[in-house]
Amino acid sequence: MRRDGLGPVAIRQGNHNSMKVPFFTLDRQTHVLRDDLSRAVSEVIDSTKLILGPAVGEAERAVADALDAGHGIGVGSGTDALLVALMAAGIGPGAEVIVPAYSFFATASSPMRLGARVRFVDVDFQTLQMDPEAFRRAITPATRAVIVVHLFGDCADMLRIQTIAADHGILIIEDAAQSFGARHRGRPAGTMGFCGCFSFYPTKNLAAIGDAGMIVTNDDAAAERMRLIRAQGAGTGQARYDHQLLGICSRLDSIQAAALMVRLPHVPDWNRRRQAIAARYIDGLAGLVALPVSAPDNDPVYNQFVIRTPERDALREHLMGHGVGTEIYYPIPLHLQTGLAPMNGEVGDHPRAEEASRTSLALPVFPELTDDEVDYVVGKAREFFRSGG
Ligand SMILES: *Cc1c(COP(=O)(O)O)cnc(C)c1O
Repeated sequence: MRRDGLGPVAIRQGNHNSMKVPFFTLDRQTHVLRDDLSRAVSEVIDSTKLILGPAVGEAERAVADALDAGHGIGVGSGTDALLVALMAAGIGPGAEVIVPAYSFFATASSPMRLGARVRFVDVDFQTLQMDPEAFRRAITPATRAVIVVHLFGDCADMLRIQTIAADHGILIIEDAAQSFGARHRGRPAGTMGFCGCFSFYPTKNLAAIGDAGMIVTNDDAAAERMRLIRAQGAGTGQARYDHQLLGICSRLDSIQAAALMVRLPHVPDWNRRRQAIAARYIDGLAGLVALPVSAPDNDPVYNQFVIRTPERDALREHLMGHGVGTEIYYPIPLHLQTGLAPMNGEVGDHPRAEEASRTSLALPVFPELTDDEVDYVVGKAREFFRSGG
């Protein structure tokens, strides 16, 4: 029995306790942070300020400061961060939103839920990030926004995307759910467009102790609108029942906010550890598989370490047989997701996203992973290729 309440994670990752090297686990971190997390939760309970209490404001300020952003708007999840950002941008029926074909489902479902038309674009085959030229080609007179995903803890080729977006008057919404702390030309992911959307799902680089998310933006008026939208379109205090617009109910929970304050100071160290693990993998696997490639001037923070090989399934089987957990991000590209009908497409529409879905394999990467464990994974992968795959 897990006692950390992370049922969905446990199910998705398989029974990691039987694994020699788990794909992901919070067990090792929970031991270290349990007292701090418990104290933070108790303080919220004792404060009785459970909804939009001081803990939320503190976390919003701290996250915005950590990212050098003007405002943080806490919401219920990364998905809701996208939804609220799109609503604040006035996206709805008649608008087109461009999204990469290779990402998590929420990147595309959020604009669709608002009645916008979604246009998928292929990714760069080296970096797996949105291909700026494909983005340019997908633009129509109806294009209002682009959701740029900073995938796997890296950043998209923002300089080129920003130039194209500016030329066409297109709003940039950054889906930085996987890239807390990553940088492009020195700028933090999530601070290079209209706004940045973060998820604090337990596997992300900054995690809450349940679902949570945040939007960061430098746009004062947009921040104000986002605060209204997340809380039924109404203000706080006296303005609580004065509804200015159609909002939703998706506030950052005070308990999650308090948990974020416990973890936030550790993130720089954890990200450096992820980078060290990635460097060790890159050393050990060079020449055997396609390794992660960053766009120029990026500092990736490896929320995932994703390799590619045509022998993906056999390699995965081999590693599994030796107790190494792996995952596939993502087995189905967005334009082939049934749930995105009728905006989805056909096989062949975005060949590089499709190829990535067939060949990508995520190896274990989390801060508490030891060098010995990384070496074990590398050794087992080398063994697979030595024996002819
Ligand atoms: C995790 C994730 C989300 C959604 O976050 P939730 O908090 O699970 O709603 C959105 N986009 C990307 C790219 C993600 O990885």
